[in-house]
Amino acid sequence: MICNEKMYALGAKRSVIRELFEYGKARKALVGEQNVYDFSLGNPSVPPPSAVKEALIRLLETQSEIALHGYTSAQGDKGVREIIARHYSEEFGFALDPELMYMTCGAAASLTITLNAIVKDQADEVIAFAPFFPEYRVFAEKAGAKLVVAPPAEGLDIDVEAFRALLNEHTRAVIINSPNNPSGVVYAEQTVKAVANALKEAQKKFGTTIYLISDEPYRALLFDGKKATCFPREYENTVVCYSYSKALSLPGERIGYIAVSPAAVEKQELYLAVCGAGRALGYVCAPALFQRLVGECDGLTSDINVYRENRDILYSALTEMGFTCAYPSGAFYLFVKAPSGDANEFSEAAKALDILVVPSDSFGCEGYVRIAYCVSTDLIKRSLAAFKELAKKYFV
Ligand code: PLP
Repeated sequence: MICNEKMYALGAKRSVIRELFEYGKARKALVGEQNVYDFSLGNPSVPPPSAVKEALIRLLETQSEIALHGYTSAQGDKGVREIIARHYSEEFGFALDPELMYMTCGAAASLTITLNAIVKDQADEVIAFAPFFPEYRVFAEKAGAKLVVAPPAEGLDIDVEAFRALLNEHTRAVIINSPNNPSGVVYAEQTVKAVANALKEAQKKFGTTIYLISDEPYRALLFDGKKATCFPREYENTVVCYSYSKALSLPGERIGYIAVSPAAVEKQELYLAVCGAGRALGYVCAPALFQRLVGECDGLTSDINVYRENRDILYSALTEMGFTCAYPSGAFYLFVKAPSGDANEFSEAAKALDILVVPSDSFGCEGYVRIAYCVSTDLIKRSLAAFKELAKKYFV
């Protein structure tokens, strides 16, 4: 093959989520939109806050078009970074440095840039806590590292002892994601502290620096009075990878940021490596209009009451029917155990009833399906009869 074989393999490999989504589209055309319960994609179903549209109109009407649509500096508009840093400090009482922040095209770009900035050689390892967002593997491997999977504890929490056992002299970074995709689990404060302690001990033991990459697209999507974790406060060598895709329901606009903690070892060098990775990957700068937009709207969140209501209805109905899943206090996912232990069999059985749920193998955790409940509450209610049918297959 003349082209790059690894890239070819990525392009040619079927994505289970996309395939299911495409199947859903075809199926809806056949049996009617209302008869397919499509829980395949994590695309926000709640519109952005009205302030987003207002700010966009205001920006378009009041700012110079040349400035608004022109290149910004590679690390992003300074004023915007200052606003975000100020809000972060107001929310968490922890000061980010705008000069260590880099605006990106969403969390995917934040992660891939950060991993490329950190990974140095082929022996480097990046640990991800299962279950995890499947693209971590793609991003870590493209950056040249090996992805090491830390298995979960009961309730899909972090198994700190299992994690500790995986840390070694090759560990360069650890990716953490809370609230979590695909489980919706929010890691407890003591779990995060235990992870931070394990990292500190490992740094001492191996004489290395291990960065904690906190992937935070769901930071604002919290229920039950849960508070977001300030990861840089828990662990010095943290890089925050943020995105507005879910918080402001703007996934197609591609906007987010990287913040290197001001407390990190070699923070300046790491930041310049982030800038270098952004450059080498061809990002140039994050979308200029949406940088300005988040300068106006950072700190706002779409109406998450819809997600909470969906969670409540679905979680109580499914557990009453006999299904088991970890209690999700954030994001908009339920991770349900396949009663037979076989995720593909369960997903296929659901599909036969026009319920589209993603089998879990690519999330680094076998035997579950992911339900993305970022859909209308009406669809959730209408899907319950089909779920009841599905339950009959497994529980008497
Ligand atoms: N990380 C996690 C855990 C996600 O669920 C997603 C998207 O669903 C991303 C990163 C990528 O998000 P973005 O749209 O901001 O690139």
